[in-house]
Amino acid sequence: MSEKPIATPKRTADILRKYGFSFKKSLGQNFIIDVNILQKIIQAAGIGQSSGVIEVGPGIGALTEQLAESAEKIVAYEVDRRLLPILDDTLWNCDNIQVIHQDILEADVGAMMTSNFEANQPVHVVANLPYYITTPILMKLLREQLPVSSFTVMIQKEVAQRMAATPDSKQYGSLTIAVQYYTDAEVVMNVPRSVFMPPPNVDSSVLKLVKKTEPPVNVADEDYFFELVQACFAQRRKTLRNNLRHYFSGLADKDVISMVLDETGIDPARRGESLTMAEFADLANAFYRTVENR
Ligand code: SAM
Repeated sequence: MSEKPIATPKRTADILRKYGFSFKKSLGQNFIIDVNILQKIIQAAGIGQSSGVIEVGPGIGALTEQLAESAEKIVAYEVDRRLLPILDDTLWNCDNIQVIHQDILEADVGAMMTSNFEANQPVHVVANLPYYITTPILMKLLREQLPVSSFTVMIQKEVAQRMAATPDSKQYGSLTIAVQYYTDAEVVMNVPRSVFMPPPNVDSSVLKLVKKTEPPVNVADEDYFFELVQACFAQRRKTLRNNLRHYFSGLADKDVISMVLDETGIDPARRGESLTMAEFADLANAFYRTVENR
């Protein structure tokens, strides 16, 4: 590469000036201006020369440019039309990048993968995500069961901690279960605000999610399971008995709820935050059998 990397304060400022680009806070635009952080993200993702990469939100191409040197092919979704001519310019000499102008939440990522990556090619999601839609993006990509091996993403620290949490912690909740049903989650590193332009007003972490080959528990119905988990955390301070009575009001009376809880052997006086994924699965399956009569 002849020019300096995009991810430096000076080069980024020059590019922004050249195009008269102003940040849109509403699109979560905080660009990375530190190449070392980008290299650490790529290393953590385990990207190699045969890897395919899906990036969400390339911005002016700071991460994309570094990925182009390590991976075989990168497909990047960018929603902000103003960035397209800039990316054409900043990434002009990388021939393994395709930018798609689309909202990732509306994209048919499965179809894109079929046409852009080999059937058995390892494909990873690597991104500095727009924070205002971190959870919808990750849940969309996880629930669609795409052939993606891992997700290495910069997100808000607080959300990363919730996704990687363990039972009996303040961060453990329905988001933890939703993410860990599909993946093994690990916070790779915390990142200072100073590596972004402009600095975000929340702390950030890099989170790595590695796809599980099999679901960790057997559930009769996934949607039912996730809903029941949410119900158990509806009021964190309340017991399972109370949260479930509220959730099932009109559908099942107190005695049925007590009977099902009894059947699972889970103490109704416990709180959602103390239950393991396996206990949630037992609970959901028992209610599914009895209340839904399946
Ligand atoms: N990757 C760049 C970097 O690290 O410097 C920019 C990251 S910035 C945090 C997030 C990027 O996501 C912005 O470029 C923003 O325009 C884009 N974006 C926001 N919402 C999006 C959406 N729904 N679909 C695709 N891209 C989106």
